[in-house]
Amino acid sequence: TDTGIDCKLKQTGCFGFCAEEPMVMLYQPGKPMLVYSKVNEKDVKHIIESLVKNTICRNKLLCRIDEWDFLTSEVKFGKGYQDIPHWDEIPFFKGQQKVVLRHAGLIDPEDILDYIAVGGYNALVKVLAGFEPADVISEVMEAKLRGRGGAGFPTGRKWSIMQKQESGQKYIICNADEGDPGAYMNRNEIESDPHMLIEGMLIGAYAMGADKGIAYVRAEYPLAVKRLKSAIRQAEEFGLLGENILDSGFSFSLDIVEGAGAFVCGEETALIASIEGKAGRPMPRPPYPASRGLYGKPTNINNVETWCNIPVIIEKGSEWFSAIGTEKSTGTKVFSLVGKVKNTGLVELPLGSKLEQFVFGIGEGTGTSKRVKAVQTGGPSGGCIPLEYFSTPVDYESLNSIGAIMGSGGMVVMDQDNCMVDVARYFLEFNAGESCGKCTPCREGSAQALAILTRITRGQGTPADLAVLELLSGVIKDSSLCALGQTTPNPILTTLRYFRHEYEEHIREKR
Ligand code: SF4
Repeated sequence: TDTGIDCKLKQTGCFGFCAEEPMVMLYQPGKPMLVYSKVNEKDVKHIIESLVKNTICRNKLLCRIDEWDFLTSEVKFGKGYQDIPHWDEIPFFKGQQKVVLRHAGLIDPEDILDYIAVGGYNALVKVLAGFEPADVISEVMEAKLRGRGGAGFPTGRKWSIMQKQESGQKYIICNADEGDPGAYMNRNEIESDPHMLIEGMLIGAYAMGADKGIAYVRAEYPLAVKRLKSAIRQAEEFGLLGENILDSGFSFSLDIVEGAGAFVCGEETALIASIEGKAGRPMPRPPYPASRGLYGKPTNINNVETWCNIPVIIEKGSEWFSAIGTEKSTGTKVFSLVGKVKNTGLVELPLGSKLEQFVFGIGEGTGTSKRVKAVQTGGPSGGCIPLEYFSTPVDYESLNSIGAIMGSGGMVVMDQDNCMVDVARYFLEFNAGESCGKCTPCREGSAQALAILTRITRGQGTPADLAVLELLSGVIKDSSLCALGQTTPNPILTTLRYFRHEYEEHIREKR
């Protein structure tokens, strides 16, 4: 700089605390990293001046980070800095356990050396040096990792089915077609740490015997596409992608296909059809992609976050991983906490953490005098959970038991001003618009349910509408071909279950 200070400016991914962006991290070797929030140009000048004067700029200073490796809680520095809260002492980060997001916001996603410097690709080296494919699958099985895309299917079991397929050609796919309104976990995972995804896919490909991979990324995520492209290029240059990787005899190539913006392409068979250049419409199963997938060959599909969990499982071991979370839902999960909540951002907590910890502990409630009313989990196909159920643990089974789903990790908070009938209508309109039209219950049923809900919100509903709405929801749920249709009625059913009086009020107003 013109101050004579040897200072390097690096662009990172997002540190997760969206409400406090733009953020700047100041790192000086041997000292804690200082995190500044809501920074503007003037603040940068003050921060640089503090470097010249060898003082600490206190303006906009949010917290400090003593130890970059979030997987250990060991504090290495801190002298003279004790009055600045440590990152996990401020409400937004308190209790968060950064596993998948451990590098997010701290490394340059466009520099492979940054990733290698924090231990990146060690897991791949470990696998290629001493693991048989079956050993990798056992490790993933013992970790009890479940798919982070929503369904929660055990990843190790899925890999084992694929591994047993006999074929000269197998594919693995990363599903990065994140389309839920308000959800952006996968986007940040790629934008912040694309090499972690590549490393996870490399390990999976080795375990399942695949030599070709495709990352199917939303075209609406241009930065994620750009960073992943650059990461693939660098990995190729370092001999980590391509032929005979690290002289192991294992070869793997990775390409990117950009999605065309259809929500239904998050469904595995629709995603495969889209890659093949066909209309993105789901197919009945069986056959499952593991036996007949992309171009008729065995194919495994996992979502971004599932792949990103693989390197740490290999590095730290299945025992370490399965000790986080609950017996049936191990590890952490990244959620995007948005809506009527003070602290919006990406939150990573052990599975089994309670909803109240997300909304009140980390989110600090609405941040206004307004009352929190509900939270919607699982995106447009999820459910609206009322305040009385906020002690529910966030894991696959517990959310299902109250009519909601975990989905891929969207969490939208609503306050007392939100009309829950409007909310249900909003999500239904989204899903009805995204129906591919292939099967009648989803195509016609959603349109009919939307017409009824619209009537009710306009004060033109009748008491009979509620019974029809319930019946119709049951039919759509039970007879739609794919998960999009099967989960479309969830917002209706949960709002009818927990906020029926609001529907009745709309109807009473008319009479
Ligand atoms: Fe298409 Fe809906 Fe049927 Fe799925 S349930 S195949 S999205 S019409």
